[in-house]
Amino acid sequence: MSLDLTSLQTLLDSDCLLTDGDSLQHYGKDWTNFYTVAPIAIAFPKTTEQVQAVVRWCAQNQVAIVPSGGRTGLSGGAVASNGELVVALDKMNNILDFNAAAKRLHCQAGVITEQIQQFADDNSLYYPVDFASTGSSQIGGNIATNAGGIKVIKYGMTRDWVLGLTVVTGSGEILELNQGLVKNATGYDFRHLFIGSEGTLGIITETTIGLCRKPQNLTVLLLAIPDLNSLMPILEAFQQQIDLTAYEFFSDVALSKVMDIHKMAAPLKTEAPFYCLLELDASSETELDKAFAVFETCMEQGLLLDGAISQSEQQAQDLWKYREYISESISHYKPYKNDIAVTPEKISKFLEEVDVIVKSEYPEFEVVWFGHIGDGNLHLNILKPEALSVDDFKSQCDKVSPKIFQRLQEMKGTISAEHGVGLLKKPYLNYSRTDAEIQLMKAVKKVFDPNNIMNPGKLI
Ligand SMILES: Cc1cc2nc3c(=O)[nH]c(=O)nc-3n(C[C@H](O)[C@H](O)[C@H](O)COP(=O)(O)OP(=O)(O)OC[C@H]3O[C@@H](n4cnc5c(N)ncnc54)[C@H](O)[C@@H]3O)c2cc1C
Repeated sequence: MSLDLTSLQTLLDSDCLLTDGDSLQHYGKDWTNFYTVAPIAIAFPKTTEQVQAVVRWCAQNQVAIVPSGGRTGLSGGAVASNGELVVALDKMNNILDFNAAAKRLHCQAGVITEQIQQFADDNSLYYPVDFASTGSSQIGGNIATNAGGIKVIKYGMTRDWVLGLTVVTGSGEILELNQGLVKNATGYDFRHLFIGSEGTLGIITETTIGLCRKPQNLTVLLLAIPDLNSLMPILEAFQQQIDLTAYEFFSDVALSKVMDIHKMAAPLKTEAPFYCLLELDASSETELDKAFAVFETCMEQGLLLDGAISQSEQQAQDLWKYREYISESISHYKPYKNDIAVTPEKISKFLEEVDVIVKSEYPEFEVVWFGHIGDGNLHLNILKPEALSVDDFKSQCDKVSPKIFQRLQEMKGTISAEHGVGLLKKPYLNYSRTDAEIQLMKAVKKVFDPNNIMNPGKLI
């Protein structure tokens, strides 16, 4: 029986409910390639009250909701495959309030992440959560996935910057959580339950975000390294002297894909199997001198083969491109992605073991390594050969993932460091969370979403 959407339309402004085929395909999916896309309609509320009305309508009509941000997610969290209503936050994109002295802004959840970064910059402040998709992702989506990115080593995850949230729960209640407070010792902090909840508890409609002082002179070093074993000694050598703002790594295959797609020249004269990119705030000559001294020591110890250092902001941005363009440069291969992490001190051993598994299990596939290695976070991307169908490719990769996850479990790592569980990692959640924890998660979901309408089938 088809559902009459007329009563839903009356809850929204005109032109804010779409049902045409192109819109259903466009708004019904994220960056994943593995799932059918079949939402019933796309709703674009403009206020928290409209979101509340839509959620209540869905509860009455037993329609499931998929909250949708910038749809840059990599785990299928924003995919609507089963006649769900997609609630897109695109029209809730206003910055509502700003307090420069308190370094705090209040905005709707559909504001694009880069807009927040730009707004902070225009006001001589800094929003440090950063990654390659911030030009499209929304702050609400970042909060729902607790996004990380390239500056976590110094500035932490999205969670560390959320001072308040307004949410509409699955039962249609509006909650204002923590209200921008720095201190608030009044029991359970539900704000933190919603951060990383992947749209399964409710819809985030507004947020208060903390900002910080701008770094003065971000300087980038790109280093060629002989093997994976050099990664951590280099990090330790630098971290003992300087607070790095980023420590990233990528393989020669990753670099070659970026150079091919973007027609970029090699960044260094020396070719190497792996590269790492460091960033520091060289606001004084002393910091730069320290960095040079560590560089030379690492060179003498054979940990490095070559390196380049940025001399200007433009050069720093140009060096970053070799790292930031990787995801986009391999996207046409429909890669099978693993976003895994262990604590940084275990990363060398873990990388060694994953390398063995990958070489023996994926001999015929091209593998691209990169990641936020300073946080212990590795992105392992298996590229689909053109001749293989998406389904066959995924099922072959699905057979290998448990071997990596088994090792992760033994090393007390995680199957998802920052991309979330969504649909893609849901079958493997038990490698990172115990049965008791999963039962508690289900119980928590029931409290906030008693009708099971919020992103059902995702995460748990
Ligand atoms: C090129 C590229 C690079 C990336 N690099 C990184 C990286 O370095 N670090 C990182 O952490 N991620 C990275 N990502 C993944 C992605 O950008 C993040 O997960 C991002 O936070 C998703 O935000 P979004 O607005 O696109 O959310 P969506 O993809 O739209 O949604 C993600 C999840 O959040 C839920 N959701 C969205 N909005 C709301 C809301 N308002 N209320 C409740 N639930 C909501 C959705 O239902 C879904 O479950 C990358 C992605 C790409 C394409």
